[in-house]
Amino acid sequence: MSVLVYINSNGEKLAKSAFEVVTYAKKIGEVTVVTNGKADDSKLAQLGKYGASKILVDRSFDGIDEQQIMRMVATAAEKVGANTIIFSDDLIGKAVAPRLSVKMNAGLITGANGIPKDDGTVPVSVFSGKAFGFVKVNTDKKIIALLPNSIQPEETGSEATIEEFAGNAGDTRVKVKETKLPDGDIPLPEAELVVSGGRGLKGPENWALITDLAEVLGAATACSRPVSDSDWRPHHEHVGQTGVAIAPNLYIAAGISGAIQHLAGVNRSKVIVVINTDAEAPFFKAADYGVVGDAFEVLPRLTEAVKKF
Ligand code: FAD
Repeated sequence: MSVLVYINSNGEKLAKSAFEVVTYAKKIGEVTVVTNGKADDSKLAQLGKYGASKILVDRSFDGIDEQQIMRMVATAAEKVGANTIIFSDDLIGKAVAPRLSVKMNAGLITGANGIPKDDGTVPVSVFSGKAFGFVKVNTDKKIIALLPNSIQPEETGSEATIEEFAGNAGDTRVKVKETKLPDGDIPLPEAELVVSGGRGLKGPENWALITDLAEVLGAATACSRPVSDSDWRPHHEHVGQTGVAIAPNLYIAAGISGAIQHLAGVNRSKVIVVINTDAEAPFFKAADYGVVGDAFEVLPRLTEAVKKF
C-alpha cells in the first residue's frame, strides 16, 4: 500500500512529529514523504532511517500557506498513487487535512493516537482527550491526522531517495513580512517536560519561580489562558482547549485550578503534578501527584532539590 506523509521542513531541524508520522506511516505501507522549502538533503535524509523510501521536495515555495500545501500534497498523492495520506495533527495539519479531504473526496480521521487495526479502524482521542474512539472511513482514499506525541519514533528503515518535484502549488495570497520564532530552545508541543503557571502566581514579576524550575529540569514553560490574556506570558505558551494541546512525559502545574478547558490541552500528559493551595482544586482529580501548598514556597524548594541531582 502506498502511503504519503506531509512534513513541514521549514525549521532549523526537523520536528519530532516528522519522525512520528513517518514511523506511523511505515506501519501501514510503503512511505513517500512530501515537503516544500529549502531544507537541505542531509536533514531530509534522516527520515529514511524511520521508514521513508522516497522524499519529494517542492522547492518552488517555502511558506506554510495551507492552500499551496494542499495542492502540492494532492499532486504528490496522484503521482505516487497514495491511498492513505498522513499529517501530524498540528496547526498545519489541522488547516490542510480537511481542505485536502474535500478536494480528494477522501474520508478524514483526526485525533488519531494509535496504529490502524487490520480492518482499517483507527484509534482516536475524543471529547478533548477524555475518551477513546475507533473510527473507520469507507472511502478508497483516506487521510489520517496523528496527534503529536502519541507514538514513539522508531528507526526501522535505512535510506531514502530525495527527488525534486513540481507540486503545482500555485500562488499564495498571503505575504509573510516577518517570521518571529518563540523564545526558548524547546518548542512547547514537542517538550518532554513542561512547567506551567496559572493565576495563582499573582503576576508576571513572579515568573522566575516557573522559569527557574524549567531551566534546571530542561523543560519548556506553559501557562493557563488568563495568564496569556493578561499579557503575563506570551500567547504561544497558553495550553488548553483554545491553546496548544500537549502530551509531555511530565506536566507540572502550579497555581492552576484545572478548569475543563485547561485540562483539554494537557490531559494526555503521562504524569501530572499539581501544586495548589486549595485542596479542593479540580486539577487534583487529574493529578498523579499533588502538593497542597503555596507555589511560592514549593517551587523554590523543588528547584533546589532538582539542582542537587
Ligand atoms: P484560576 O481559575 O484563577 O485559578 C488559580 C488557582 O491558583 C486556584 O486554584 C487557586 O487555588 C490557586 N492558587 C492561588 N494562589 C496560589 C498559590 N500561592 N500557590 C498555589 N496555588 C495557588 N483556560 C485555559 O487555561 N486554557 C484554555 O485553552 C482555555 N480555553 C477556554 C475556552 C473557553 C470557551 C472558556 C469559556 C474558557 C477557557 N479557559 C481556558 C479558561 C478556563 O475556564 C479557566 O478560567 C482558566 O483555565 C483558569 O485559569 P487559572 O487556573 O490560571 O486561574
